Amino acid sequence: MNGKASFLLDLSGVSKMFQTADGTNRSVLEDVDFQLRDGEIVALLGKSGSGKSTLLRIMAGLIPADQGQVSYRGQPLYGPASGVAMVFQSFALFPWLTVRQNVALGLEAQGVSLAEREQRAENALELIGLAGFGGALPRELSGGMRQRVGIARALATDPDVLLMDEAFSALDVLTGETLRDDMLELWDERRISTRGILVVSHNIEEAVMMADRILIFASDPGRVRDEIRVNLPRPRNADSAEVRALVDQV
Ligand code: ADP
Ligand code: MG
Repeated sequence: MNGKASFLLDLSGVSKMFQTADGTNRSVLEDVDFQLRDGEIVALLGKSGSGKSTLLRIMAGLIPADQGQVSYRGQPLYGPASGVAMVFQSFALFPWLTVRQNVALGLEAQGVSLAEREQRAENALELIGLAGFGGALPRELSGGMRQRVGIARALATDPDVLLMDEAFSALDVLTGETLRDDMLELWDERRISTRGILVVSHNIEEAVMMADRILIFASDPGRVRDEIRVNLPRPRNADSAEVRALVDQV
């Protein structure tokens, strides 16, 4: 395998503009280079409005870049790739569908039977600690459980790459940390087939706890300003001196 093809995601020179209300163009991302390698968790840390979600949507193939190249496993990305799944801050569940139906929805594009979709949905729910909740409606669940459904929907597709957009920030601190640690346990124990995770966050501790590399994103326009390597073994203890020192450094 050559060097390029070994990247899960490879972005080079990615730029994006949006039109503002007065009709002028505003540069939201400028010349972003980013590689996600096999086996790593990367955190993208930046202020609100710096373009993190826009960059993630480009990587998910949901919107195109204006300039630059985006590829997934060496192939140019022209739309959503079946190996790339996303978890949203707002959960993005359909309220009129059951938990099982919401999770199975992620599999519709894959052309498998309804029975198999529902079985895989149940497996994903069990993995994330929601066995027995498949028949519930989202409104019957707490916020933390709803986001578990959002994660199950992504995991049900057996994603190669998982993109997590502020996935824990709509939850209270304890609930968010518990879910974060549960995700890390699945990853560390290789209970999911996912080969790379990109975590977008504005929470420094979350980045230090999760990532092998932290990219600091600068705004106006958004671009990668700095990179910090996190050479700490996992599982990590949030109260340890090593983690606290890194949190202070970032
Ligand atoms: P972040 O996720 O870092 O908070 P976003 O990527 O959501 O940042 O947004 C970056 C900037 O781009 C913001 O100023 C936002 O208002 C603007 N923006 C995002 N999406 C659109 C859109 N579809 N149309 C116009 N402006 C947008
Ligand atoms: Mg965002």
